[in-house]
Amino acid sequence: MKQYQEMMYNRMQQTIDSWRCKQSVHEYDIYHFLNSIKATADVIEMKVLSDEVMRLLNDTDPESEKLWSNSEWLPIVEHIEGAFKSGFITEEKASNHALFVGSSVIKDETSFILVIDHDLKFTMGIKTFLEDEGFQVVIALSGKKGLDLFYQVKPSLIILGHVLQDINGLDFLKHITVDAQKEMTSIIMVSSSCCEKNRVKAYELGATDFITKPLNMTVLLPFLHNRIRHRQHVLKQIGEDELTGAFNRKYLECELSYQLTMLKHADKNKLFSFVIVDIDSFKSVNDQFGHVKGDEVLKTFVHLFKLFKEPADTISRYGGEEFAIVMPDTTKEEAFKRIKAWRDTFSKKSFMAGKTAFNVTFSAGIKEVTKKDDQIKHVIEQADKALHYAKKSGKNRSEFYKETLEYVDFKDFVTVIIVDDDEIVRQVMSYHFTKRGVVAGRPVKVRTYSDGIALLEGTWYQPDKQYMILLDGRMPKMHGIEVLQKLRETYGKKNIVISMLTEQGEVDVTRALNLAADDYMVKPFNVNEVAVRVDRLLERVLN
Ligand code: GH3
Ligand code: MG
Ligand code: MG
Repeated sequence: MKQYQEMMYNRMQQTIDSWRCKQSVHEYDIYHFLNSIKATADVIEMKVLSDEVMRLLNDTDPESEKLWSNSEWLPIVEHIEGAFKSGFITEEKASNHALFVGSSVIKDETSFILVIDHDLKFTMGIKTFLEDEGFQVVIALSGKKGLDLFYQVKPSLIILGHVLQDINGLDFLKHITVDAQKEMTSIIMVSSSCCEKNRVKAYELGATDFITKPLNMTVLLPFLHNRIRHRQHVLKQIGEDELTGAFNRKYLECELSYQLTMLKHADKNKLFSFVIVDIDSFKSVNDQFGHVKGDEVLKTFVHLFKLFKEPADTISRYGGEEFAIVMPDTTKEEAFKRIKAWRDTFSKKSFMAGKTAFNVTFSAGIKEVTKKDDQIKHVIEQADKALHYAKKSGKNRSEFYKETLEYVDFKDFVTVIIVDDDEIVRQVMSYHFTKRGVVAGRPVKVRTYSDGIALLEGTWYQPDKQYMILLDGRMPKMHGIEVLQKLRETYGKKNIVISMLTEQGEVDVTRALNLAADDYMVKPFNVNEVAVRVDRLLERVLN
């Protein structure tokens, strides 16, 4: 910590020295100097300094070409140096400092809320408010993005505006209601008009609630908690996944523990097979043919299994396009055969999207469970390892769990790329992520770039790897927005998650989101918070 403070101090001194050589300094230079101190101070958590600089910032204008004489700017510099010294922390304190404490600042049970509205000021306001309350909020300005985020993030709740960039909120309801209802996701329609006709229409189209702007935040919070708790309660009660007719995860857990208990009381030859299956490249089915087609594929997938299964076999939806199958009294070889018969039929089935026919495949991980296995958690992990191995080995296949898989590191790492012109921000973040070692449960590698051009010209990209890019909005050479646009043009968005780091009111968040930024974070933030947000986002998007 001390090291970063020293770096910052030296950098400040360099600027001040260069000013001393001149007679006077432009007001906009002073503004940018203060602004950069503030950004760094926030990252390394020098609160006193940050607050003092904030006060000074209010008295300077980024557009002003006014010249400040030495006698005008020197007191400011002295003031900052004073604030700096009072915030300078000793190394002993630093080791206990929040920045380096690994524990998360956001509660684990954080719920995702999806806000869809064309009005950026409104969405940003809600985001800030709810994130202060411990939720994680993702924003979409258009219906298309809203739909994508819905399937990606599976939010607990949707706040939907009346006007979206590409579609009217009421028309959007028609696209999302059915799937939202299947997920028990409340849709809260927000409108500035309390017109009865709209309200009736919204309810008819499946909105759960209709509230009018301006929102009363005191009421909003308990209201949202209430809706989310209700959803959790209902999800616990229902045993069957409505879309596919498979059982749900809760059922799966009951079934697995029952089967394990049965093994304990039976003779030593009793066993069962546990299989995790995952549809291959399902994201591209959705991307190319739409979510409705995707849903049809899921339904057919489960339906076909039911034709090949033995009476005692059960299939449960484990999450998204991932399913778990319990096959009582079945050896792994028998399980393999049964899955193969199902796979052969499924992969030959032609789905039609208009006049285009397409095929879909799946991969499976098979774990034979015997008396030796006693923990559900391990059984699931082992089947999952076999599944990963099947994916790694080219997909469209089944693999058995075997002990040697324990030594294969197929948990793909995620590369976190930090692009910021501020060296201290780069170092602090890089240090933090490296020390943490994992994001979203995966090993992490860190890379840093000091500007967008270096990133765009760099040779970091591999199509089969996954990336999280934290992209500073304001950088010399090339503006963050332009970098974002070029990144998307060059690499698409399949395996790159991008979050823009912006300062309040600085980067055009609307453009960033339209250019397919997945998230944005408003400075000031502390590194720990950033890491936790990155975790949450990646857990939803990549896994
Ligand atoms: P892989 O072969 O590695 O499994 O790639 P993938 O594309 O299948 O896997 P990934 O986990 O990247 O994407 C899964 C996609 O499944 C993302 C999400 O949009 C989609 N999905 C999840 N649940 C549903 C659903 O209920 N309906 C539809 N249509 N899509 C869903
Ligand atoms: Mg898949
Ligand atoms: Mg998957």
